[in-house]
Amino acid sequence: MSKINIQPKSYKAFTNRSIDTIPQFAALPREIHDAVQTVSRVMPFRANNYVVDELIDWSNAADDPIFKLVFPQKGMLSGEDYASLATKIRAGEPDSVLQVESRRLQQKMNPHPAGQMELNVPKCQGEAIDGIQHKYTETVLFFPTQGQVCHAYCTYCFRWAQFVGVDDLKFACGDPQALISYLEAHPEVTNVLFTGGDPLIMSSRILRRYVEPILKQRPGNVRSIRFGTKVLAYWPYRFLTDKDADDLMGLFDEIVASGFNLAIMSHFTHPRELETDAVRTAMARILRTGANIRCQAPLIRHINDDAEVWRSMWETQVSLGAIPYYMFVERDTGPKDYFSVPLARAYEIFSKAYSGVSGLARTVRGPSMSATPGKILVDGVVEIAGERVFALKFIQARNADWVNRIFFAAYDENVAWFDDLKPAFGEKRFFFEE
Ligand SMILES: *Cc1c(COP(=O)(O)O)cnc(C)c1O
Ligand code: SF4
Repeated sequence: MSKINIQPKSYKAFTNRSIDTIPQFAALPREIHDAVQTVSRVMPFRANNYVVDELIDWSNAADDPIFKLVFPQKGMLSGEDYASLATKIRAGEPDSVLQVESRRLQQKMNPHPAGQMELNVPKCQGEAIDGIQHKYTETVLFFPTQGQVCHAYCTYCFRWAQFVGVDDLKFACGDPQALISYLEAHPEVTNVLFTGGDPLIMSSRILRRYVEPILKQRPGNVRSIRFGTKVLAYWPYRFLTDKDADDLMGLFDEIVASGFNLAIMSHFTHPRELETDAVRTAMARILRTGANIRCQAPLIRHINDDAEVWRSMWETQVSLGAIPYYMFVERDTGPKDYFSVPLARAYEIFSKAYSGVSGLARTVRGPSMSATPGKILVDGVVEIAGERVFALKFIQARNADWVNRIFFAAYDENVAWFDDLKPAFGEKRFFFEE
């Protein structure tokens, strides 16, 4: 294993309860400080000393993309809800009262987007298999029990309900053999995507329990293993100086040596996350194992809704040896009004950024909506027979026959999610609804 030139950092987590022990946060102007503290009673908060010390520019916190990515913002609650909670806090109401109020506000936000809970869970003789989702023919998602949290929480996360305990861990599975049996029974599956939360938050010892059976038993036709993760952005020391970092790299080596493609599906929200020595060294180290790093993130108002941000992010990713993969449209859940970008604007931002990079970065696809029928790409805004329409296309679909088919929706500059689109040309339904 090669030597690394990075000072080790010992991990320090901050949560809602300890938010005020972050010195830079405690020193913020009263108004910003109190607003964040108030909203953090409702929305999940978790950060660590890398995010706080190396990613955020505290001299300009109110406008800092990473501050807004991790610290809950005032605009995430409606004016009325915020005022009601702030009044109760100021009046010195006891914790029990504040908790009831927080729960009430959490329940008001849609905790279950796009039929996730019921539609994609495979049934085995009528019984649901927890922790496995199989929506698209070739790909199985696996949610290991120990990987259902993250090193920091993104304020826009659609799993927020799970983090604040409105949901229990219905999705998770702790049994590696359940995954193997499923893959054996489904020869159409070519790849397994470990997801969460964040599967790379698991110790390498636990991760091995899930991965080694795949390497040894080679179930079905699985050829690729993917880890969906934000650890590169939130705690790159995971791959460098943590006590099992070398063992994790060893596991990556073994996956590749066993003849599997290994893809680290990395969530990067902003180019700032690609600037530190730690992340750059971690990426180089991962690539040396033979793994690929593919990069994806949602487009989020207030944080990265700017073509130049995406252009420079994709360019930097390519220069570091990573592959730009998806730009997602933010889901219709949680504080969506604060974060959502209308589809027309998302398309504009994507196109402007895409036209400013070389072909090496045009592996990226988007803006893409993970909606109930599939992943739907906004592929253009065009005029056909005098009508302005969105050209849409399935890049993944519940039914494989729909993939790569173009269809049209009436143009509306305000629509921000698929469910609010109407078919173009006065038709009653989209083709796949027939
Ligand atoms: C995005 C997604 C995948 C992976 O899709 P790829 O296009 O292969 O990256 C798999 N399952 C679900 C449910 C998804 O949303
Ligand atoms: S890394 Fe992913 S799962 Fe974790 S908080 Fe962010 S968006 Fe949610």
